[in-house]
Amino acid sequence: MFDVVIAGGTIVDGTGRAGYRGDVGIKGEIIEAIGDLSKAEAKRRIDATGLTVSPGFIDTHTHSEGALLVDPQHANGIRQGITTEFLGIDGMSYAPLSAYNFKAYRHWLGGLLGDPPEDLDMSSVSAFRGHYHKKVSVNTAYFVPHATVRLQALGFHDKPLRGDPLVAAKRMVREGLEQGAVGFTTGGRYYPGPWGDTDEIAELCTAVREAGKVYMCEPRALTIASRAFGKHGVTEGMEAARRSGAKLHFAHRQAHGPGRSRTHGRPRHHLRYLSLSDRQLDRDLLSSG
Ligand SMILES: [Zn+2]
Repeated sequence: MFDVVIAGGTIVDGTGRAGYRGDVGIKGEIIEAIGDLSKAEAKRRIDATGLTVSPGFIDTHTHSEGALLVDPQHANGIRQGITTEFLGIDGMSYAPLSAYNFKAYRHWLGGLLGDPPEDLDMSSVSAFRGHYHKKVSVNTAYFVPHATVRLQALGFHDKPLRGDPLVAAKRMVREGLEQGAVGFTTGGRYYPGPWGDTDEIAELCTAVREAGKVYMCEPRALTIASRAFGKHGVTEGMEAARRSGAKLHFAHRQAHGPGRSRTHGRPRHHLRYLSLSDRQLDRDLLSSG
């Protein structure tokens, strides 16, 4: 006896296999059978004729952390089939922050992230995740955000992290990853993030590499490009990954077209990195030889 049979739909299972007709039998939270279940008993049978049946989608770029906290049903995501959302994208979010910094940054980010209650505990990644797990309709995965960490380590100051604040920021990244964050993010234009430089990001990324997690980069270009290796966010992201050994994913890219390509990088920026990096490697080899 199944709890639910979803009958007659076209199953697209996410493995890359072409869609096929079939029924899905569910007991509790587990899919127990896929196939012809027309004779099976079920407490509830859902007719999916003419519809597609698939696992939930992962939305990798939402900025919905504030919206989820005021509207946990989140129908705009769920009704599109999204069952997991990534939070902490582009280097900015709510944790880890002191109560004072959360209040200020929540207001600063309101236009992008929404307006969650201001008295929430955001002092750690664990506390942050506790506000979502089994309390909102989607699953969430969190990335430790660079601007947030440097706000907590140094405040709103226009200088790269060095010395004690850098040590503190790296500890926050490491602890956040230990507490279940899936990676680390930087952003191109969300302060205080762009006040950092490539040395700072590469150092923080060593904690990412040690945890075996991923560095997701929204490249900067117009925000203090002079502080970026190669004077661009794409070359900066690649260099931080090279120095630290962290796995790199670009959150924003544009391969063609006018306008925004200046902020997010064209393929020529990748090519420029490769030539810069080759020259650096040549120097390294010469000096070690
Ligand atoms: Zn974004």
